[in-house]
Amino acid sequence: NLQERMPKSEIPELNQLRLSFNRMASSLEGVEQKRRELISDMTHELRTPLTVMRGYLEELADGTIDASPEIYQRLVRETRRLERLANDLQELSKAEAGYLPIHLQKVDLYPLLVSLVERFRDQLLEDGPVIQLDCANDLPLVCADRDRAEQILVNLLGNAIRYTPHGSITLRAQSKSRFLWVAVEDTGIGIAAEDLPFVFERFWRSERSRDRYSGGTGIGLAITRRLVELQGGQIQVESERDRGSIFAFSLPLA
Ligand code: ADP
Repeated sequence: NLQERMPKSEIPELNQLRLSFNRMASSLEGVEQKRRELISDMTHELRTPLTVMRGYLEELADGTIDASPEIYQRLVRETRRLERLANDLQELSKAEAGYLPIHLQKVDLYPLLVSLVERFRDQLLEDGPVIQLDCANDLPLVCADRDRAEQILVNLLGNAIRYTPHGSITLRAQSKSRFLWVAVEDTGIGIAAEDLPFVFERFWRSERSRDRYSGGTGIGLAITRRLVELQGGQIQVESERDRGSIFAFSLPLA
């Protein structure tokens, strides 16, 4: 325990030094504790796809199951999940260490919103949700990093689509006092009230998402919140189980 290392002294100057030293020691211990937690969470998340893959590979090796396109597809799916986890973890560790460079500029979000809605619309399945944009075309400029703003929107729209099997997704934007608020509203599976406090925590996924909506990593919203905060904004969620969710974030007006 670092705090035990510098004993009390009779000399006032030394005691002052002791206090600063102890303060620094506790803050280092906090960092170390966080690092340990991150590694233990990461290991846990990596283990799940690896266990599934090993299971299939062992059964293929000893002939318990026959190689079939379906088995290979499952293996590919788990490999993709590992790949996504690796990418997300890299972003998360940069975000948590404060190493995500942010280049603030005056940005008009309107063209970005239009192009994202078009891009996501092209990816939607015929029986999936519909997506629409509902905002004025003369939005006030914000002071933001365009690419990071896009990353936030891609994460929120990706979630809205993933957790909205049918129904609709609406992207809205409007200014309120000195901020522009952008909201992604969906009519999907929603989040139970008791789960809401955890949604921005890394690796948290609702029971239901884990069971039925494969492909998630539980990292997107943790990164998203960090990206919003790094640009001086806030993120909020309102949701009701089986009714849908609204994720709204703000960016300062330019
Ligand atoms: P994931 O990769 O699992 O989607 P996120 O960090 O983006 O990770 O989200 C964490 C969890 O929050 C999700 O697993 C899901 O349970 C819940 N969630 C996020 N967005 C939505 C949404 N639009 N509707 C319902 N649940 C959501």
